[in-house]
Amino acid sequence: MKNIPEINHCAPHPKAYWCSDCKAHNTFDIVVMESRNGKTFKYRCKACDFWMFRPGETLPWKNGLFVFVGLSFVVGVPLGLIPLSNGEHIDHSRALQIAGILVGFGAFCGLIAWSMAHYLKKWSAWSFAQRMKSPEDLRQEALDHPFQPEYDNSTDFTDWAEQFLTSEEVERLHEKYGGGETVQEQASPAPPAEAEIQIVIKNMEDDE
Ligand SMILES: [Zn+2]
Repeated sequence: MKNIPEINHCAPHPKAYWCSDCKAHNTFDIVVMESRNGKTFKYRCKACDFWMFRPGETLPWKNGLFVFVGLSFVVGVPLGLIPLSNGEHIDHSRALQIAGILVGFGAFCGLIAWSMAHYLKKWSAWSFAQRMKSPEDLRQEALDHPFQPEYDNSTDFTDWAEQFLTSEEVERLHEKYGGGETVQEQASPAPPAEAEIQIVIKNMEDDE
């Protein structure tokens, strides 16, 4: 297990997963969530177990949701007000039922959009402050950060590193930090397997 000076987890990358609690691009565990609609992947911060998000990806979703919320209220409220002003009951008014669904769903999406906006605000403040710092200050901040990303020979680590480096550079990271471990991990099961074959051959020779 080693620290990774090639990647500064305190330098802002909008396309990389970020933990709003740790205020850093920490390493993560990828959690697969299975539902009727298929699999979704969630990224959990290795330091605090909080879900991480990609600010660059969340921003258009947040904006899109706010537009949808606005439209659902602009259409839903007048649609519901007309039958309400006529004293109609929701059980007998199709327009009122549709308006109720529209406004209810709009409010639900509004909550999601509001939560996205809350975390994006944290990201904006942090990334703006980080961009004002010199590379040397950022390097020092990364070294002083309570969480230090560590090398680990896993696909989660590779996915994390590929957010900042090219595939070739990540390959070199594996050679530099994981070379010995990988060889050992792959080499260790081999001797028993060979030994088993030798035993089988020996047994066959004995039988003859
Ligand atoms: Zn965290």
